[in-house]
Order: sequence, then C-alpha cells, then structure tokens
Amino acid sequence: MEPEERQDLTEAVLNLKFAQDRTDRALAELQALARPLAVKHSPRSRFERWRDSSDGKHWKRAQHRKQRGRCACCQAPIDLNGSHIDHIQPLARAPELACDSGNLQILCADCNYRKGDRAGAGRSS
Ligand SMILES: [Zn+2]
Repeated sequence: MEPEERQDLTEAVLNLKFAQDRTDRALAELQALARPLAVKHSPRSRFERWRDSSDGKHWKRAQHRKQRGRCACCQAPIDLNGSHIDHIQPLARAPELACDSGNLQILCADCNYRKGDRAGAGRSS
C-alpha cells in the first residue's frame, strides 16, 4: 500500500470512529429523553389515569351494577369502594387492552390478589 493510500485509510477509520462516538452520544441522549415518556405512557399508567378519571369511575359504578354488586370470580357481594378492577387478560400479556372495558371486570380483593398476573386476572384497584 502506498503511503498516501495508508494515510487516506487511517483518516477514514478515524472519521468512522468519530461518527460512531457522536451516534452513541446522540442515542444515549434520546434514551434519556424517552425514559419518562415510556413511564408516562406505560399500560399501567394509562390504566391508572383512566381508572381515576370520571370516565373510569363512571364505568366502575356501572359495572358494579351490571355484576349485581358481586365479584365476577367468586360471586361474593362486594362494596363498590372495596372492589378491584381486574384485567381479564393481564396487562403484562395484553398491554393494548389496558383501558378496554371489554377486558375489565370487578373482583373482590381476595380474588384479585389470588389471580395476580395470571390470565383472567391482573392487578388493579
Ligand atoms: Zn371474589
């Protein structure tokens, strides 16, 4: 290899390394910016905002009436305030259904905790 070609090659390698460093830094900055957005828009956060909204509270009252004031699982009578909104398909498995009323039911606390993240159940409140 001619000295001139070697020089060009060395320069090209240095330019690539420089570009890679800049890309790595830009990526790290973007990841730092995206982190709070990911939390804000996580399925759990979306669900909790909906649950605490007037729409969510209205849905829970209506659902409590629809279930005749009983747990969807064990059929025990439940108070509206002590009942838990359950994700039939758990959030972890079906995050797109976080606020889909067709995927929600009301359970007593015992059934909700027993269900955990298994299908037909989910954590909630
Ligand atoms: Zn129950």
